[in-house]
Amino acid sequence: MKPASFDYLRPATVADALAALAAGGDDARVIAGGQSLMPMLNMRLVQPRLLIDLGRLEELRTLRVEDGWLSVGAAVTQAEVLARRTLAQEVPLLAAALPWVGHFQTRNRGTLCGSVAHADPSAETPLCLVATGGEVVLRNLRRRRTVAAADFFLGPLTTVKAADEIVECIRFPLARPGSGHAFREQSMRHGDFAIAACAATVDGERASLAVGGVADRPTTRSWPLVAGGLPPDLDDALNAFAWDLGGDDDQHATARYRRDLVRRIGRTVLEEALSCRR
Ligand SMILES: Cc1cc2nc3c(=O)[nH]c(=O)nc-3n(C[C@H](O)[C@H](O)[C@H](O)COP(=O)(O)OP(=O)(O)OC[C@H]3O[C@@H](n4cnc5c(N)ncnc54)[C@H](O)[C@@H]3O)c2cc1C
Repeated sequence: MKPASFDYLRPATVADALAALAAGGDDARVIAGGQSLMPMLNMRLVQPRLLIDLGRLEELRTLRVEDGWLSVGAAVTQAEVLARRTLAQEVPLLAAALPWVGHFQTRNRGTLCGSVAHADPSAETPLCLVATGGEVVLRNLRRRRTVAAADFFLGPLTTVKAADEIVECIRFPLARPGSGHAFREQSMRHGDFAIAACAATVDGERASLAVGGVADRPTTRSWPLVAGGLPPDLDDALNAFAWDLGGDDDQHATARYRRDLVRRIGRTVLEEALSCRR
């Protein structure tokens, strides 16, 4: 299939990109890696008149630690983050989850910020951002604002981002000493979107589980540790969480199967996170 015709702009600066986005209104879209947007264009699910390419803006090619956060700019690809040698120490959950995002070919172009802006409920990057307590930095022509990841996602492909804003960068808090992290997912094949994905963190006196692919957005629940271990009624707690997540039957799995994955994978990753505390 072929997309409807559109104009293509490769701005020289972020300010130029934001000006074009503001002027274009609902007819304009930004494109980063194109790994989600191009299929949508080809299927004519979206038909913008103007595409504004963020992918080559050096200002957005930032990947650095600042003030206790790992900051990932909008032009940084999934492959570039995965190749960072210190990633497993800085954000171990992201290091564990990124290899599950698509394939190396798609990771060479796809960006973390694009995945967050796209807000697929099964995507691993939004899940990690919510699970770690990360932030989304939004920018338009007039201002910059920071939104907690837990407040950013509203539902499938829906966020609090306004049409004239870009995701300038996302920020993951650095893992604290003594914390433990684990990630697992179930998908039809490696590289497919998750049927259910579970990200666990054990930090201080609490254990947290974030789940993607079941509810309409990444969702977290946490429990106090009991005598340094997981709560004795964890199975009941996971069962209640699985039912609260809802989840629908679709062509990939039934809601019942998804609940079962939350119970089983949830327990596994919580145990792994507890046992690998550093
Ligand atoms: C074969 C295949 C398998 C895949 N498997 C997975 C998978 O298992 N897990 C997974 O999570 N993803 C998967 N993906 C999607 C992939 O991770 C995409 O890279 C990602 O969802 C979007 O990032 P992008 O940079 O390609 O964004 P684009 O496709 O360029 O854009 C996606 C959307 O976000 C908007 N956008 C992009 N960047 C910004 C920004 N900085 N500010 C504001 N809006 C922005 C665009 O306007 C568009 O609406 C797969 C893709 C393919 C083709």
